[in-house]
Amino acid sequence: MPEIYNKVLKIRKKYLQKVSVKSSTLKRPIYMKSYDEKFDGEICKAIVITLKTRGCAWALSEFGGCTVCGYIYDAALKPVPEDLLLRQFSYAVREIERTNRPVILKIFTSGSFFDEEEIPPPVRHKILEIASKIDNVREVVVETRPEFVTSDVLTECTKILGDKILEVAIGLESSNDDIRMTCFNKGFSWKTFLSAAKIIKENYCRLKVYIFLKPPFLTEMEAIKDAIRSTRDAISAGADTISYNLSTIHRGTLLEYLWKRGEYRPPWLWSAILVLQKVSAIVDLEKTKILCDPVAAGKTRGPHNCGSCDRYVVSILRKFSLSQNPEVLENIKFCRCINAWKAFLHAESYSFSQTVNAYETLT
Ligand code: SF4
Ligand SMILES: [Zn+2]
Repeated sequence: MPEIYNKVLKIRKKYLQKVSVKSSTLKRPIYMKSYDEKFDGEICKAIVITLKTRGCAWALSEFGGCTVCGYIYDAALKPVPEDLLLRQFSYAVREIERTNRPVILKIFTSGSFFDEEEIPPPVRHKILEIASKIDNVREVVVETRPEFVTSDVLTECTKILGDKILEVAIGLESSNDDIRMTCFNKGFSWKTFLSAAKIIKENYCRLKVYIFLKPPFLTEMEAIKDAIRSTRDAISAGADTISYNLSTIHRGTLLEYLWKRGEYRPPWLWSAILVLQKVSAIVDLEKTKILCDPVAAGKTRGPHNCGSCDRYVVSILRKFSLSQNPEVLENIKFCRCINAWKAFLHAESYSFSQTVNAYETLT
């Protein structure tokens, strides 16, 4: 079987040719949103900002990045001047200033906050210093690949943040090395994740882990089992928060290629409910926060059921994420598509080995 990254890289290069980045867009973040989220028993306002940086080093590498991720097409693709990065961050500061509520500040880059090519150290310091001075900020969450996590960086960040909590989020996707490497082309091992997790915990930071439902090349049933197993493994590695990333089809990805050929379907929302039901039975929800906030739910490119129950099922997922109360997942209203989903679980034809054949024919 050819190395998967050759295919990913080919698709990536083709799509990158179509991207043109206007310098005016460097003054604004890629994305901002806010919603309610529980933090240590208190309902807070979570403010998410995605800064436009050079882009994820892994996506820009000769390995082409992850099979499911098209965030690189929103990136600047060249270093962004420090003053512009800070100007982008000022949008989040203004949003915080509009509220008196406690805030969870999530600073994302669609890459790695600790990658100095994306966020130079002076900018990192300044951003954290600003956050440290805002009274109602309870927690700062940043995202990174594990290879950028070092004790020196975390010591420096926690020192600047003082009594604010720092949560470091890692997109593990799956705890299984074969699935992470082959299905995602993720490029880091469980061992690398574990060593980053250890550093995060040793520095009294919280660890958030993203788990993906459902990876390409797995059946729905295999994906459900993998998400549950990965949750268990991530918690034993010290995860304080688990966030399920329900697959959506990004443009210019291997996942989109498979989807267009009918070789991939985004997960059913019932599968997410099943994962949450199983996980909430084995996890201490007082100690570990479980989140699931699907993007593009109900759309063909996003996680979906039959169309008529999607909105209702998403509301259950959100209600559970906010309350952390497993009772929310009981007595869910019946929709006829549950039977179709059950049949799909047993009949889906693309198991790992069969899809490998389809993959071999990629051109
Ligand atoms: S999923 Fe994360 S690591 Fe992978 S290409 Fe996207 S931003 Fe980079
Ligand atoms: Zn339905």
